[in-house]
Amino acid sequence: MSTLAIHGGDPVRTRPFPEQRTLGDAERRAVLEVLDDGVLSDMIAERLEGGPRVRAAEEDYAARMGTRHGVATNSATTGLQAAVAAVGVQAGDEVICSPYTMSASAAVVLSQNGIPVFADIEDRTYGLDPASVTGRITEHSKAILVVHLFGHPAEMGPILDLAERHGLAVIEDAAQSIGATWEGRQTGTLGDVGVLSLNYHKIIHSGEGGMLLTDDDEIALRAKLVRNHGELTAGERGVSIPGTLGSNFRMTELEASIARAQLDRLEELLAHRRALAARLTARLAELSGVVPPQVREGCTSSFYVYGVRVLADQLDGVSRDLVADALEAEGIPLGRGYVAPIYRQPLYQQRAAYGRGCPWTCGPYRGEVSYEPGICPTAERLYEDELLILDVTRAPLTDRDVDDVADAFEKVLENRAALRAGRGA
Ligand SMILES: *Cc1c(COP(=O)(O)O)cnc(C)c1O
Repeated sequence: MSTLAIHGGDPVRTRPFPEQRTLGDAERRAVLEVLDDGVLSDMIAERLEGGPRVRAAEEDYAARMGTRHGVATNSATTGLQAAVAAVGVQAGDEVICSPYTMSASAAVVLSQNGIPVFADIEDRTYGLDPASVTGRITEHSKAILVVHLFGHPAEMGPILDLAERHGLAVIEDAAQSIGATWEGRQTGTLGDVGVLSLNYHKIIHSGEGGMLLTDDDEIALRAKLVRNHGELTAGERGVSIPGTLGSNFRMTELEASIARAQLDRLEELLAHRRALAARLTARLAELSGVVPPQVREGCTSSFYVYGVRVLADQLDGVSRDLVADALEAEGIPLGRGYVAPIYRQPLYQQRAAYGRGCPWTCGPYRGEVSYEPGICPTAERLYEDELLILDVTRAPLTDRDVDDVADAFEKVLENRAALRAGRGA
């Protein structure tokens, strides 16, 4: 057995993994066309629904995903903020959220003066656990904000049932899951409204950008009002609907042109991710003590990132962090635990999003939400003890790159006695 790099042996990998690169001639041509036109953004006067490329991008994405409407925004964060307002969340309403996601997935609720209530996740696909969601529903609940984490659909069947039974709206944060499907339907189109992210680090991108998807005419209208100062054409300029405080969440023509070209690459990029993920899973499934990502029956994943659970009790007590140290020494970049459960952030612990206790104690909120440690034990365990994140399915990585990752896992786990002893064998 070769000596672990952490003990002075040769690392499995010395070359760095390449950065994500997915732009080509189509994107270049699209941008040059906009520059030649000279109109970089076009949402004024009689055209408050956006310029030609923004509207075309909305049509393309809605058609590809299967909704009546697309509403382009300058990020998924602002798209989600518009979605929260558009489904009618008002000051003091509770929205049930995941604690194990990017901070924006809950912050957008606070932006509307709503109250994030964190339900736990399940540890197979890291989506909201329907049993925990059930326990969080109160008379103040207004919506459930579902995240399809790492590109795998959440358990939508029970969540949609719960929402229907309790009259709650369902908002999908599909920032990581573009192209992932649940029972043949696209994530982002399963609830009342969903939002895709087009930032550079996502599966396809326009630099920054978001796309809100909905079948509901009223939600689309309200989202467009929030996007643009509460103003729209159709003879009602300047007439905003109460509860939809407007801002500037507009996408430019440049981003829209790139977003359209990138959509043409989605199939190919997803196929690439799925092939590399399958290759890595085939290898890791042979090892005990690590759990590769599962794809539930009836679902496909976009493999935004590849999450692996490390189970110390199956590795003679070798911890996730020790495995991570050893893998990093072998030249494998990784993330530990993903993110701390969101409620641990000082903003929640001190209950001051806007200062002075707002929106928890300054407004109409009359509920009792808890942000105590331990409220979401599965999220805490994954963060503290189990999860490793690998960003190795993206283009331009190849089979050889994921083979190095698998070789490094094999080497580290085979040498776990030495790893535990803290020295070379
Ligand atoms: C990236 C991301 C967002 C925010 O997307 P932006 O387009 O960067 O605003 C929201 N939720 C999740 C789960 C994300 O991964």
